[in-house]
This record gives sequence, structure tokens and C-alpha cells, in this order.
Amino acid sequence: MPELPEVETVCRQLDPELTGRRIESLEVLDARWCRPTPPRKLERAVADATIEGLGRRGKYLLLALDGERTLVMHLRMTGNLVLVEGERKLDPSEGRRLYEAERSVSERHLRARLQLDDGRRLWFTDPRRFGEAFLIANRKLDERFAKLGVEPLSAEFTPDALGAMAAGRTAPLKSFLLDQSGVAGVGNIYADEALFRARLHPLSPAGSMKHEHQEALRDAVVAALEAGIDGGGASIDDYRDGRGEKGTMQDEFLVHTREGEPCPRCDATIARIVVSGRSTYYCPKCQVRLRKRPRRRRK
Ligand SMILES: [Zn+2]
Repeated sequence: MPELPEVETVCRQLDPELTGRRIESLEVLDARWCRPTPPRKLERAVADATIEGLGRRGKYLLLALDGERTLVMHLRMTGNLVLVEGERKLDPSEGRRLYEAERSVSERHLRARLQLDDGRRLWFTDPRRFGEAFLIANRKLDERFAKLGVEPLSAEFTPDALGAMAAGRTAPLKSFLLDQSGVAGVGNIYADEALFRARLHPLSPAGSMKHEHQEALRDAVVAALEAGIDGGGASIDDYRDGRGEKGTMQDEFLVHTREGEPCPRCDATIARIVVSGRSTYYCPKCQVRLRKRPRRRRK
């Protein structure tokens, strides 16, 4: 499932390619993609729009259009946004790479297709069909994302901010990190990686962190996400980048999916448990399980 680094990778690749391009047409091949908006209505609204840029909020992709509007897309479990060459002539080496890219995003799973004015196409593919899109006026964006938490790569994500979010929470740290209303964009992979980097056990109650732990976890979340972006995202399932190619982060995981392998820090064996219904990987030796802090009674 794409998380912040995967979505950010797609953004960074496609923003310079899409900015300034005009959308000749949108074709919605699966009505579920844009429901409850009827496909023809969205197609008419987007046709002839000029793209002003591609951005990100949490795991959402924001395609800014002229007229103060944004086409918001979410990849959910298996969605991919891939730029595909059209009629433009290619040199042979580039042509080969793009041919491989086209093959890797199966046309069978195509949900929507944007035709750009330079002959290229932007494909939204999605085998599981949970991905979605909607068009929204820019003035309504803040309200739409009001429940989304802090951006972990922004200056607002401080140890104190993290501490304030966690205060009084008895939920395990793993569940706390997965909650998009706290830290936006962190999912199963990067929560495991961040907790390992911070040396914190995933079952520690979120509210049990002292300031030193909040500092360690803040730094660890940022480091884990930046490693993911440097690796071009993780392709452990369907994820492909904006060019249709696999990321490499799956080869760099410290603990995620590493059950039974030696801990890269202390050599103990990486364990797997299930937290919030999600497979969770950690080192039982060097990730400290914090105890619940005693609560003062209030009348
Ligand atoms: Zn260890």
C-alpha cells in the first residue's frame, strides 16, 4: 500500500512533466473511481483544463488545475499514477525503457486516463479498485483535509507536537502512528521502520513516551520517510513509480518483512506480531517496551 514516500516519489517525478500541460480529455473507465460524481460530469469538468502542478497532502495526490480547482486522487491499496508515452518519437534506449514501463502497468487495470496536449497520457491503474478521485474548489481543500494530521516532513512536526498528540493515549505506538489524524502519511511499512530506528517497542502505550522518546520518535519518523523517498518508494506489492518502475526501498528495510532475520543493530531475531490487524515487525531485544505512566486521579 503506497505511503507518504511512494506518493511523494510519484509527485516529484510527475510534477515537472505535468506542470503547464493542458488536459485534452479525461476518460473514466470505472465509475467507482470518482463516485458519487458521475463519470461524464467529471470528464466534462476536467477537459481543456491546464495543469498548474502536482502536490501531496498525507497520502493524497493533488493535481492543481486552472480555475482554482484541484483534482484530488488517492491510490489506496493498489493504485498507481503513471505517465505513458503517446505518439512522440523516442530514441531507441528511451523507447525500450518506456515499453517495459507500459507493460508493467497492465491496461486491464486501467481506471482512468488523462490525454495530455503533448501526446502523452496519465494513467490511473488499480487492480483492487479502492483508489478514488474527486474535483474540489481550492477554497474547500482545508475543510476537506481538516481531519488529516500534521505533515511529518514539515517544520510543524516537532517532538512537542508529537507529545501533545500522544498525551493520555493508551493505544500502542504502532496504532498511534497508523492513525492519519495524528501524523499524516505514515502507514504499516514506515511505522515499523520508525519504531525500530527510535528503539521503541510497537506495543508501548503512546502516552507513555517521555520527552527523550518523543524526540527519538520524531527523528526516526523523518529518517524512515526520507530513506523511503531516497529509495524511490517500496514495491512489495503493486506499487510502481510515476514512470511505471519499481522502487528499491523494499531492499533497504531494517525490520519490516524481516521476520526471522538478524536485527541489524543487535543481532537478535526480528519478530512479527499483529497490531491493529497489521503485520508488525520489530526487534524484541533492542526496542524498549515502555510502561504505562501512572495517571493522576481527577475529580
Ligand atoms: Zn535489535
